[in-house]
Amino acid sequence: MAFRHLACALGDDAVLGPGSDLSAYEDPYSFGMTEEFRASGAVLPRSVEEVQAVLAIANQHGVPLWTISLGRNLGYGGAAPRVSGSIVLDLRRLNRILEVNEEHAYALVEPGVSFFDLYEHIRERGLRLWISSPALGWGSVVGNALERGVGRTPYGDHAAQICGLEVVLANGDVVRTGMGALPCANTWQLFKGGYGPSLDGLFMQSNFGVVTKMGLWLMPQPQGLMSCLVRFQKESDLAAAVDALGPLRRQEVIQSNAQVGSILHQVVGRYPRARWYDGPGAIPDPVLEQIRQDLGLEWWSLRFALYGEENMLDARFEIVRRAFSMIRGAEILCQKHVASGADGLYAWELEGAAAHDAGVPSVSSLDVVKFRGEDGGHLDFSPIIAPTGREAVRAYRHVMARAREHGIDYVGSFTAGVRHLRHVFMIVYDKRDAEQKRGAADLFGILVKEMGQEGIGEYRAHLAFMDLIRGEYCFNDHAIRRFSETLKDALDPNGILSPGKQGIWPRTFRTERSP
Ligand code: ADP
Repeated sequence: MAFRHLACALGDDAVLGPGSDLSAYEDPYSFGMTEEFRASGAVLPRSVEEVQAVLAIANQHGVPLWTISLGRNLGYGGAAPRVSGSIVLDLRRLNRILEVNEEHAYALVEPGVSFFDLYEHIRERGLRLWISSPALGWGSVVGNALERGVGRTPYGDHAAQICGLEVVLANGDVVRTGMGALPCANTWQLFKGGYGPSLDGLFMQSNFGVVTKMGLWLMPQPQGLMSCLVRFQKESDLAAAVDALGPLRRQEVIQSNAQVGSILHQVVGRYPRARWYDGPGAIPDPVLEQIRQDLGLEWWSLRFALYGEENMLDARFEIVRRAFSMIRGAEILCQKHVASGADGLYAWELEGAAAHDAGVPSVSSLDVVKFRGEDGGHLDFSPIIAPTGREAVRAYRHVMARAREHGIDYVGSFTAGVRHLRHVFMIVYDKRDAEQKRGAADLFGILVKEMGQEGIGEYRAHLAFMDLIRGEYCFNDHAIRRFSETLKDALDPNGILSPGKQGIWPRTFRTERSP
C-alpha cells in the first residue's frame, strides 16, 4: 500500500518495491545478520518537495524509513537499515553542487554529491580550493560529515567543517540552521552560530531529520605541502611516538590528522595474508617478524603532512624532526612540494601520498578486505582514546590480547586529532567463513563492554552494535538516552525516521531495542 502511494506521488521509477533487486541496500560486509537488517524497498526522491511527500506517506502508513545519502558506510552497515522492513530513503538523486565559493572557501551541496563529484567540479573550474576526502572517495560528502568521518588534510575533521544545514523534519517542515534562517542572508556558510541554540549537531549521527543541504568549509589551497613518514623500530615505541605527537598536534605544528599504523595496517590492501600464513589463529609473532623483514617495514609507521608557504614548511619540519629525533631509531622521511606560481598548489598536480595529503579522493584502499580472501569484509572497532602514550598502549594491549584469543589479527591505527586519538581496529574476515564472522562479532561485543568499563567509548558503530554502545554511555541512569528519546518522540511521534539509529528509538519501536 505504502509503495503504491509512493509510486503515485513520485513515479514508478522512483520506487523499488517488493520483488525489486534490493542487493544495493544490503550490508556488503555482512557478518551473518542479513535478515535483521533487510530493507523492504527503497524510494529515491529528486527534490525536497518529494522528500516531504515521502515523509507524509510514511507517517500515514506508519512505515519506517532509513535515510542514506550514497550508502557507502562500509564497515558500519553500508546502506542497510537498522530495522528490517524499513524503506530506504535513498537521496542519491539530490546531487546538485549548489555553490562553491572560492573567496570564502566553502561549498553548499546536496546529499547525493560524492567526494569525486566535488573534487571534479573544483578541478574543472580550476578553483584554488582543496577538499578533504576519507579513505574511499566514492561516498557522500554529506553522509560522511554527518557520521563524523575523517580525512587527512587540516580540514580532515569533517563534522567540524559543517556550517549550515537544511533539514526536513518528520512532519515535513523544512528548517535551515544558523544564518540560513534569515531569508536572503549571504552568511549561511560563514557563521555557524546564527541566533539561539546551535542545532547542526542535533542532526549528526541522528534520526531527528533528513538533511537535504549542507554547507561545508573547504581549505584554501596552500603554497606548499610536505608529506612526512616517521618509522619506529620497536613495538614499545608506540608510547613515545604518541607522547611526541600530542604536543605537536595541540600546538598545531602538525595541522592535520596524523595516523600511526601497525605492521599489518601497512600490509592490508597490498598483499594477502596467505602469502605468509594460512594456519589457525592469529598470525604468530615469528611470522609477523618475517613479514616485517620481507617488506622492510618498521613496527609502527606515522604519516602526516605539513602545509603552508615554504619557510613555514621548513620551520614546522624542524620542530617535528627535533621531537621525533628523541626516540631512538626513529627515522623521518619527507617530500616537499611547493607551487611555482602565486595561486598555490593545485591538488591535481600531486600524486601518490602527496595527493592523499591534499584530499584527492581515491578508492585505492578498497582492497583491504581481500586480506583474508577475495570475498572479504571488515568490521571497525573505533574507540576514542586520550592522546597519551600510556592510554594508547593500554588500548593497544587490551585489543591485541583479546584479538589473539579470538584468533584475529591486529590491524590497527591511531589517528591523532587535536586532543584525542581514534583507535580504529579493523577486524578483517572472509565472508564465506562462518567461524571467522562469528569470532569478529563476539570479539567486538567483548571489547565494547570491557573497554566501556574502563571509560573508553566508540564514536561510531555498525548497526548490530548501536544499542550495545548506546548502553555504555549510561551516566545518570542513561540520561543521554532519555533526553535523545524525548526529542525523538516530540519530533517524530510516529517513529518513521531511522528508528534505532545510534541506539535512539522512538516510542513506537522501543521494544525493538536489543537487550
Ligand atoms: P557515505 O556514502 O558517505 O558512506 P551514507 O549515505 O552511507 O554515507 O550515510 C552514512 C549514515 O549517515 C547513514 O547510515 C545515515 O544514518 C546518515 N545519513 C546519511 N545521509 C543523511 C541525511 N541526508 N540525513 C540524515 N542522515 C543521514
